[in-house]
Amino acid sequence: MASLLNKLSLRQLNKVLKKVNSYSDKMKAMSDETLKHQTVLFKRRYMKGESLDHLLPEAFATIREASRRVLGMYAYDVQVLAGIALHKGKIAEMKTGEGKTLVATMPLYLNAITGKGVILITSNGYLARRDALEMGQVYKWLGLTVGIGVKEDAKESMDTDEKKKIYHSDIIYTTHSALTFDYLLDNLCINKEDKCMRDFYFVVIDEVDSVLLDAANMPLVISGAPRVQSNLYKSTDYFVGTLEEGDYEEEDRQVWLTPRGITKAEQFFGVNNLYTKDYYEVLRHINVALKAHFLFKRDEQYVVKDNKIMLLDKSSGRMVENTKLKCGQHQAIEVKEGLNPSSETRAMASITYQAFFNMFEKKSGMSGSVIEDRKEIKAVYDIDVVEIPTHIPIARKDLKDSYYGSFEEQFEASMKWLIRAHEKKQPVLVVTSSIEMSYIYSRVLLNHHIAHNVLNAYNVAKEAEIIKNAGQLGAVTIATAIAGRGTDIKLSDEVKQLGGLLVLGIGRMENQRLEKQARGRAGRQGDPGTSKFFVSLDDEIIKEYGAPSLKSYKNVKEITKKHITKMMDQAQKNYEISAYRSRNRTLEFDSSTSAQRTIIYTLRNRLLNDEIDYDELMNFIIKENIEDFFIADPTKDEMQRFILSHIEYHIDDTLSYKKEGLLQLAKERFLSKKKELEESNRYNQFMRIAILNALDNAWIEQVDYLEQLRATIGLRRYSQKNIIFEYHQEAYRAFEKMMDHAKKNVMKNVMLSSIVEEEKGTFTVMLP
Ligand code: ADP
Repeated sequence: MASLLNKLSLRQLNKVLKKVNSYSDKMKAMSDETLKHQTVLFKRRYMKGESLDHLLPEAFATIREASRRVLGMYAYDVQVLAGIALHKGKIAEMKTGEGKTLVATMPLYLNAITGKGVILITSNGYLARRDALEMGQVYKWLGLTVGIGVKEDAKESMDTDEKKKIYHSDIIYTTHSALTFDYLLDNLCINKEDKCMRDFYFVVIDEVDSVLLDAANMPLVISGAPRVQSNLYKSTDYFVGTLEEGDYEEEDRQVWLTPRGITKAEQFFGVNNLYTKDYYEVLRHINVALKAHFLFKRDEQYVVKDNKIMLLDKSSGRMVENTKLKCGQHQAIEVKEGLNPSSETRAMASITYQAFFNMFEKKSGMSGSVIEDRKEIKAVYDIDVVEIPTHIPIARKDLKDSYYGSFEEQFEASMKWLIRAHEKKQPVLVVTSSIEMSYIYSRVLLNHHIAHNVLNAYNVAKEAEIIKNAGQLGAVTIATAIAGRGTDIKLSDEVKQLGGLLVLGIGRMENQRLEKQARGRAGRQGDPGTSKFFVSLDDEIIKEYGAPSLKSYKNVKEITKKHITKMMDQAQKNYEISAYRSRNRTLEFDSSTSAQRTIIYTLRNRLLNDEIDYDELMNFIIKENIEDFFIADPTKDEMQRFILSHIEYHIDDTLSYKKEGLLQLAKERFLSKKKELEESNRYNQFMRIAILNALDNAWIEQVDYLEQLRATIGLRRYSQKNIIFEYHQEAYRAFEKMMDHAKKNVMKNVMLSSIVEEEKGTFTVMLP
């Protein structure tokens, strides 16, 4: 079925390819000047109403020819095919080394004709800069502007003007995190002039699986003020350390207390019901401590460096700089590792990549390993995946996996392969599933006096350099997962004679994508190469997700029985299902947050653009606030306090203490304020600042609350409720409350703020 669909898609793409090819000679015959001028002509035609689809053949042929002249690279037919797929909003699966960088130039150029700004996402800043500089030569030659959204030194910041210039370029190269971060920042500014971004139009995501799948569970968060340091980390850590099997349960990367565990916790903390509001904080700390102990493993999800917890990027094995886990999870791991908990900050703005990328009018992507996940991609993002044939047939031999009873056997067998290849100087790349394992290989190689390079999270800087040389005569390289993605491994003729690069995969990995990427390091662009995986019952994934009955085969040296090896492979499938569920859960939770964020950001934009009728809004807010206040039948004292904190700093003796009296007072006060402000032409600006401040403060609180809620709601699993449903309900209730709160603060800000003139023409609003 899948391959039939693929054939159909390819057939359609091939039709368009023919049209592109029919323009090749015409473009070849053009002088440089005429070719360059095409961009202007396309723009004119687009303005006159011609569609991009109609312009495609000529535009693709133009940039294809321009790349030949500027870079000396002429896109192959399969590359054009992939480019067409991207323009159509699809994901192109292209093997490593097939030249995705060049592919992207074609749809980016075509879509940039609209003048709306198009974006290319790469998985790290180094690649974004490298590709923008190289491909940028072509765009510039054709008269387009190029922006790079990341600085060479990630710690360096950009000012507003610089950012604006970047985001107003025709074509932008950046990373998913830099772009998303800038988006959140853009929605924290209070002047229209400080907004740097334009509306989102077209995006091409390189290594799309790592962004849309692997990073799906890690929302991007902007942190604000520090939280009061909690002293519960140590006691909950100690408590969780006393738990025994049966006190807790684990599934789909979730862990929670069983009824027995709950009883233990209630005894330990001396409380009678852990699930009441009063013990919310205790519960939250238990939750993060449970996760720290049972879900987060040192050297897998994080490393300890200079007394700090550094997170590891799953797909590259790299340390992630400047990122901490949220909601106290980071602190819980610190305490588990015997460190002092670092300070915790509040979340100010957050978004998942899923929600972010779904804002684009059209999105597409490329990857060497995404076809297996086409169903999930379709369901979540509504994007089709097309498998693009390779330019030259793949010559790599993927040998059958071998299965062993224990790590010792697995290790010995793989070392035999390694040594045999090394003796004839064939380069070998060992890909392990953990850092620990990479050290074991390194140590044994040292004992054998075999020179080698180790690529893991501890030496980020040298990664690209090392991986580039992994194909040299006699090279032995050990890497965790697929560090150094996006760097070409080139082979000399001598190495090709020896059969190219040998990739040895150690252990079943978390998913097939990772294994495919590991294999794909060999045999690029029709090169010879070999890959082989060694699997054992000691592989983490099999120990955790395999059938318990597998244990009885521990003493078998090499496992060859089909039904057993199948059971071993099933462990990976189980893990993939659980990872899928966990991503899905994130999405389900996120739907509330997303809906709320959309409401707030839309409101913000209307405020920034002065599209709000402030009189109408204020009349509404004054009426609602005062009516709400009178529901509780307030005393005179309470009314006075209400006036002082919401209307004016002064109480008039003649005031009638009735609802109508207060309403009239507030309205009069507002009108006189308005008159005063209008005289100096500051009414709109003042209102915008006063309202935005109230709205932002309320929303920031809400973001933080939702983060916390999400982190703790899993623990209600035993209270017999559907947690997603409960979350949505609670999130909705909190939103209503937040809006009420914002309404009160708008009134307060508008009525009680004063304006301080600074220099001529500039002023500051002093908020109450
Ligand atoms: P991928 O990202 O798909 O692994 P790259 O974009 O890194 O591949 O390209 C791999 C190599 O192939 C690069 O050295 C690039 O310069 C080269 N290349 C790509 N397309 C062409 C082409 N049409 N003609 C010549 N060289 C090409």
